Amino acid sequence: MAVQQYAGGCQCGAVRYEVEVDLASTVTCNCSRCQRLGSVLAFTSEDKFKLLQGKEHLTEYLFNKGVVHHLFCKICGIESFARGTPPNSDKLFVAINVNCLDGVEPRQLNSRHFDGRSI
Ligand SMILES: [Zn+2]
Repeated sequence: MAVQQYAGGCQCGAVRYEVEVDLASTVTCNCSRCQRLGSVLAFTSEDKFKLLQGKEHLTEYLFNKGVVHHLFCKICGIESFARGTPPNSDKLFVAINVNCLDGVEPRQLNSRHFDGRSI
């Protein structure tokens, strides 16, 4: 796979975005949030992400060190993406919830498991 453009968003359609991302390196995680949500994540940079609509419907949840802004739609509750800054960096990244991309079957991807519970 390579970097491709995808469209995605929340369940109710209030939040919609376009993103350029490589689905060859997706991640599942067992932290207290990802395990509950069943998130399949792909990471990209802020300049590859374009929120098309729904900014006013987004609300955020912070936990642990609060470095990742978990943004979810306050109408339908779905977190279709998150934003954060890695440790020792000020470069913003976007974590895409691959489950929310149009036309993608996340369970057919070869995701790497990340042990987020242990950090
Ligand atoms: Zn929604």
